[in-house]
Amino acid sequence: MSHSNPCEPIDLVSIYGSEVFNDQVMRQTLPKEIYKSLKQTIEEGLTLDAQVAEVVAGAMKDWAINRGATHFTHWFQPMTGITAEKHDSFISPTPDGRMIMEFSGKELIKGEPDASSFPSGGLRATFEARGYTAWDCTSPAFVKDGTLCIPTAFASYTGEALDKKTPLLRSMDALNTQALRILRVLGNTTTRRVTTTVGPEQEYFLIDKKLFDQRQDLILTGRTLFGAKPPKGQELEDHYFGQLKSRIAAFMSELDTELWKLGVAAKTKHNEVAPGQHELAPIFTTSNIATDHNQLTMETMRKVALRHGLVCLLHEKPFAGINGSGKHNNWSMSTNDGQNLLEPGKDPHDNVQFLIFLSAVIKAVDEYADLLRVSAASPGNDHRLGANEAPPAIISVFLGAQLTDILAQIEAGGATSSKSGGMMHLGTSSLPSLSKDSTDRNRTSPFAFTGNKFEFRMVGSMQSIAQANFVLNTIVAESLSQIADRLEKAANVQKEIGVVVLEIIKKHGRVIFNGNNYAEAWVTEAEKRGLPNLSNMVDAIGAIRAEKNLALMEKHGVLSRVEMESRSEIQYEIYNKTINIEGSTMVEMAKRQILPAVISYKAHLAASISSVLGIGGNADVEKDLFNRISGLAQSFSANLAKLEQALQSTADLHGNSKTQAVAYRDLVFKGMGELRKDADALETLVSAEYWPMPTYSKLLFSV
Ligand code: ADP
Ligand code: MG
Repeated sequence: MSHSNPCEPIDLVSIYGSEVFNDQVMRQTLPKEIYKSLKQTIEEGLTLDAQVAEVVAGAMKDWAINRGATHFTHWFQPMTGITAEKHDSFISPTPDGRMIMEFSGKELIKGEPDASSFPSGGLRATFEARGYTAWDCTSPAFVKDGTLCIPTAFASYTGEALDKKTPLLRSMDALNTQALRILRVLGNTTTRRVTTTVGPEQEYFLIDKKLFDQRQDLILTGRTLFGAKPPKGQELEDHYFGQLKSRIAAFMSELDTELWKLGVAAKTKHNEVAPGQHELAPIFTTSNIATDHNQLTMETMRKVALRHGLVCLLHEKPFAGINGSGKHNNWSMSTNDGQNLLEPGKDPHDNVQFLIFLSAVIKAVDEYADLLRVSAASPGNDHRLGANEAPPAIISVFLGAQLTDILAQIEAGGATSSKSGGMMHLGTSSLPSLSKDSTDRNRTSPFAFTGNKFEFRMVGSMQSIAQANFVLNTIVAESLSQIADRLEKAANVQKEIGVVVLEIIKKHGRVIFNGNNYAEAWVTEAEKRGLPNLSNMVDAIGAIRAEKNLALMEKHGVLSRVEMESRSEIQYEIYNKTINIEGSTMVEMAKRQILPAVISYKAHLAASISSVLGIGGNADVEKDLFNRISGLAQSFSANLAKLEQALQSTADLHGNSKTQAVAYRDLVFKGMGELRKDADALETLVSAEYWPMPTYSKLLFSV
């Protein structure tokens, strides 16, 4: 571990969670009865008592003031994908002109931010402004920059969810209900709650702030819209797990400390595949805390980077031609008494409980692949999925050698053994023999079983992980509910389990694929198997309104039909606005930066041609360059006009967001690609002195 001063020890134990109103603080500051009641609410999802809230608010305020807080905010996650906060100070004037610090139970439980300026997908008209935030006591409050932040859910006056947290919490309840039914049928009478757990691995880029400031595209869109391929990219594979440069190490060290203070269990950090790319992984926790923590992680990365003269890029594809960034969403289910329901144990073929939960996931992923796909859809992720760096847009499940073998045995009449990994010998007595995992890894699968959890690898680096997780929780809840319906009615439960698992393998085995997901052959094979291939966000959004998906979300009380429709609308809007901003930024950069630079350089060349000719010299080289640049500039100029026209005609389609999205994809986005081609070619011909923005080589290799 590197720290700015290696001689100075850091007191990790007292730093960790120091800004969090966590269990230990609650135990210390709350009366015993109150503590017990709150704890029960948190652990068992019971309703919160108003009197308890009053006492908790008082304790929270005193604790926060002690940590230097003067304000509080309900911290929530609207559909923008980032967090929102509105700060109120604790002050309350007294009649005699003094001031006291106050914070009531009511203020803790409920807030009333104006809901009209957040995306609502038609749920709220501008004049219907009222929205409420409600305290989510299952995620702890914390102090950040002098403000007590209270994690909350955000809903409209009419009760519809306007945020990402509400459906996530609802989905956790749904999964709990259905998983408990299975456990009960299996004879478990003691487990009280099943919670989903998540550990998201976060990828990001760091670039120098001075260079960032010279790129309008990075400032406005988070990604480069122009930029020729540099002479060196990631082909030497020398960055992945490479040594940390000291400026990066200093950033990471401070980032860890800031996250630890907030109770985020940052655990692993390393360089990623692309130059300038890095990753951070925390230790997993419950889905909703993990979601809050991932938001805090992204925010803290951005903040800490600036202190080091760096900018943290969280966009899914900041640079063309090298890897983009994603988020591996590691997911499992665990019981309040400490069992991981996806833990295969030593003899998975004999582990009935494991086989049921495993088959429930397989069935869920096959039946709702389209919903999972759209949960990872974003304009930025469209550059990655299927681009040989992230898993393709086709959803399949990797199980590995051991589990695939067990399922094959079951299909052939019954499983009697589990293949083990055995030992690995390294061929020299000076190295220890290592025990091998029961299967190798597969980096290319979008949904891979990795030992005792599934890793959903499609999520984009900038996205909230909330939607991926509420979809996962809900689809698995549905499988479990169908299995429970069968088992609860069965005369012989053990026998019925065998029948159900076999049925699932037969019907949904098509979604299992252990091969290379990046291969062209897989696309054909997947099509033969009937697996959906939704290659872009606009096509993926359609899944939100599919009848089976509306019915699913409604059945489990996760999102009503109205809420689903509003979300589909919001997705189209996000796509349209993003592409419009990108296209418009390109037009502006093309007109005001690139064309003027090209014209100046052409003038310079013209002048040198005539002066060379003036002294009777041969200006063939200059002329050749001049002509090549002229040709490209002409094409560039024509493509610029086309893009401008496409932007205009697409903007005119407002009123039907889906039709407009198709036009943004097929006209504007395509036109952006054409324009970029010419510009990138020009960049390689125009003198560096004239080129108006830092190149890829500079951006990627100067930290
Ligand atoms: P890798 O994917 O490179 O093998 P790790 O094994 O370190 O990385 O795990 C990646 C992430 O998975 C970490 O954030 C870890 O905390 C998380 N994880 C481990 N077990 C679980 C679990 N049961 N539920 C959810 N996440 C988990
Ligand atoms: Mg991983």
